Formats: sequence, structure tokens, C-alpha cells
Amino acid sequence: MAWTTPLLYERLTWPEVRRAVAEDRVCLIPAGVLEDHGPHLPIDTDSRIATEICRRAAERIPDRVVLLPTLVHGYTPHHMDFPGPISIGWKTFVDHAVDVGSSLAHHGFKRILFLNGHGSNIPLLDVAARLVSLKHPDVLCASAFYLTSEEAQRVIAEVRESERGGMGHACELETSIYLAIDPEAVDMDRAVDENSFPEGPHAWMDWSDGPLKLMPWWNAISHTGVHGAPTKATAEKGRILLEAAVAECVSFVEELLAKPLPERWTPSEVAP
Ligand SMILES: [Zn+2]
Repeated sequence: MAWTTPLLYERLTWPEVRRAVAEDRVCLIPAGVLEDHGPHLPIDTDSRIATEICRRAAERIPDRVVLLPTLVHGYTPHHMDFPGPISIGWKTFVDHAVDVGSSLAHHGFKRILFLNGHGSNIPLLDVAARLVSLKHPDVLCASAFYLTSEEAQRVIAEVRESERGGMGHACELETSIYLAIDPEAVDMDRAVDENSFPEGPHAWMDWSDGPLKLMPWWNAISHTGVHGAPTKATAEKGRILLEAAVAECVSFVEELLAKPLPERWTPSEVAP
């Protein structure tokens, strides 16, 4: 039977799963959360953006990827004072991601990528990917947050009109991308800018955070649920950012494919 494009994991038969393993495909797993994204964006923003990036990347390199269902729920306890968020405990979330990755490794897949759309999932998916790699020493399991590569940061700098702090949450960046994906779902009349995060020389909140990590309860740093400048968002910026995110995801997949699989060995003597 001909492969569908993109290759959706959940639609495969078991012989097709075996074939996808034999083709050494990268398992691409989008991850996000449901949480408040200001008065103008749906609560699925992080999950939907990650899903869209991965689907488009999988369509671009159909022979190299098998696309997994999105990990829709993530870790967001600090948002719970706003209506809407569904928060999975950090350990449950890590265990869940490890179990998904380990199942794929069990079936023979050697290259796995969690592509994440939610800030607070970052350290947890980093740990989850490490744990899968430790459990399956011949497997390359990685995680990445979107629009973080050098090239993507260059595109962000070119596109943005807001100052640092304008691209944090429900911001110029996320609102633009959602406008590019589904303009009907965004209520720009209700978009408001806010930057109440206590910035300092080392702690700030933007698409790349400062080195000093600080995350209080969300309502302690935002009245509207927004951190950033969504009023500066446009669909045109969104198309450019989304394209950069898709190209970045493709390059992550290609890098994973280019890497040799790890080989574990036992050091028994001092090398000459
Ligand atoms: Zn978000």
C-alpha cells in the first residue's frame, strides 16, 4: 500500500509500523498545553502551533518522518488561577513523555524528537528525552522548543516590531502565527499589550529568556494573561515565523538523521 502524506503514526497497521522502523524514520512528537492565552487567543495556542509546525515539516520531508499524535496536555500549574488551563503534574508529564518515547524505542525506532510549543514543558521534555536515551542506549531522543535556533532568532529579530518582552506569551509572535494558521479563531479586537514581568539585567521574558529563570504564579505577573505585544501581530509576520519554524523543524530532523547512533561501551583500561 502507498504511504499517506504525511505518515501519521496512529493510522498505520502493525506491518506498516515495522516498515516505518526499517526506513529509519524520525518519530516527530508535537507537545503543548491547554492554557489561557489572553482574551484574544484560544487556549489551545501552544498545542495547535506545535502540531501545525510538525505537520507542515512532515509534509515537506515525507520520506523521513512519522508524525505522532500531539501531547496536548502539559505542565502549567502557575496558570491555574485563570480559567481554562489543564495542568499535568511535572512527574506525570515526564513519565508520560518517557513512556511514549520508550514505546517507540521498544518497537525499533532509533530517532525521536519532541517538538515543543509550551515554555514550561522545556525542562521536562529535556529530562524526558535524556531518560529515553539512558533507557535505550542506541536511541537518539531529543527535544526542542520552536524558533530557538540561530537562524530562527535571526528571522524573529527581522520581523519583530516590539522591544524585548514583546514576545513572551499570547504575544506578537504567538498571535501572529495563530493569525497565519486560523484568523477566524483570533479576536484581535480584544488583544491588549502587557509587560508586567519584573525585568532585570538577567531575568526577562521573551522568546529567548534571560539566564536567570524566574516563574511566579502567572497572575502575579500578568493581569490580562498576556505577556507581550499582541497588538503588533499580523498574519504576514505569522507566515514568515511559521515558515521559519517549519524550516527549523526540518533541519532538526535532518540533523538527527545525520548523526551516528550512540554506542555504549565499558571503559576497562586507561587509553594509551
Ligand atoms: Zn503560548
